[in-house]
Formats: sequence, C-alpha cells, structure tokens
Amino acid sequence: RFNKPVVPIVACLMPEFGIGFQGKLPWRLKKEMKYFKDVTTITNDKNKKNAVVMGRKTWLSIPSKFRPLPDRLNVILSRSNPEWEIGTKEGEENVVMANSIESALQRLDTDFDDIERIYIIGGGEVYNSSYQYCSHLLVTEINTNKALQMDTFLNTEKIYQLFRKASDFDDWKQFVFDTGYTENKVIEGDYSYSYQLYKRK
Ligand code: NDP
Repeated sequence: RFNKPVVPIVACLMPEFGIGFQGKLPWRLKKEMKYFKDVTTITNDKNKKNAVVMGRKTWLSIPSKFRPLPDRLNVILSRSNPEWEIGTKEGEENVVMANSIESALQRLDTDFDDIERIYIIGGGEVYNSSYQYCSHLLVTEINTNKALQMDTFLNTEKIYQLFRKASDFDDWKQFVFDTGYTENKVIEGDYSYSYQLYKRK
C-alpha cells in the first residue's frame, strides 16, 4: 500500500498476544524498553528519522516527562483531532495530531522526505486496525510463570492469517539494522522473552 515500511512494534504475552491492562503495560521490562527505543530511533540514513504512530490512550500512558518520544516524529490518533495538525495545546515540537490511520500513513508516506520508517506503537485498537498496511511486525514474545491480568489483546486470527514468523535470526538482525544486538533472547526477572520478526505471507 505505502512506499515506506509501516511496522507495528509490540511486546506480547504469549500465546494469547496480551498487551495491556487498565491502560498500562502489564510488566516493566527495562531491556525491552531500550530495545523499543533503539529500534524505533535508529535509521539507515543519518539525515532521516522515523515516525511513531499511536492511539490517544497510548500517548496518555507515557509519563508526561517522557513524551513526546525524542528523536522521532510522534503522531497521535484521535477521532476528535483535526485531519492533521502540527503540535498540541501544550505546544510540543515533534508532535502531530491526526484523525485517521489511513490518512496519517498516507501523509507520512508522501509528504515527508525526511521520514524513513513508520512504526505503529499501539495500543490494541490501533495495532488491530493497521495490519492491512504492514509488511512486517516486530513482536517481542514474552513468557512468564506469573499470573498476569490483561484486558487488551492483539487480534491473533488476523495476525496468523496475514503473517508468518521469520525463522531466521539473521532476518530479524538485518531488519533492525544490526542495532548492536547479537542475541534475540532475554531473561529479565520472572520473564523470558525473544525479539521476533513476522513477515507478510
Ligand atoms: P489505543 O492506544 O489504541 O488508543 C485508542 C484511541 O486512539 C481511541 O479511543 C481513539 O481516540 C484513537 N484511535 C484509535 N484508532 C483510531 C483510528 N483508526 N483513527 C483515529 N483515531 C483512532 O488504546 P487501547 O485501549 O486499544 O490500547 C491501550 C493499551 O495498550 C494500554 O494498556 C497500553 O499500555 C497498551 N499498549 C501495549 C503495548 C505493548 O507493546 N505491549 C504498546 C502500546 C500500548 P479517541 O477516543 O480520542 O477518538
């Protein structure tokens, strides 16, 4: 659909692809947060940056001192936004308000020569309406013995219908531009997780 890669990046509790509870992440994983920051920030072309597209609820879930996410164009979706407006009431730089995924992706694709990739960063509603536009997914598959409560999930039926997991470690490494990661498996506290690339069938 679009010329630029449109890539959801998401951390999921497997096997049910759980992603959130009561407006927050169900876990706190420092290394996973760093991975998210590294991958969404790094570009192949040093003169370009990436865009991160998110729903209003995910924007609000980021503590105010950490938003907008630095060195990336932050695009916030809300149906009550204007079609496209730069900045917010608070006047933040690096922020755009938009009112539909499709039109936001269209503009980012055609009107911004300095944007390299478009990362979809959540939450559930936005992820689940984006798959049709995406060639790849970056999924952190999380496992734990802890009993976690969750109320937000990815649409597993759509994911399995449209994507298959790349079995090759090098595929993932190349896709994340050799961000210095030599290992895609991590153990952190009660959690073990692995960074995976899913490709469009
Ligand atoms: P979202 O973050 O997807 O935000 C939903 C809001 O975004 C809607 O209410 C609407 O705003 C706006 N919106 C959504 N789709 C569109 C569209 N197509 N066009 C215009 N506006 C749109 O909320 P969810 O509740 O689904 O997800 C939040 C949860 O996800 C939290 O628990 C969060 O922690 C979790 N999360 C998990 C991640 C992970 O990797 N595990 C990553 C990111 C979030 P309005 O109502 O103003 O119209």
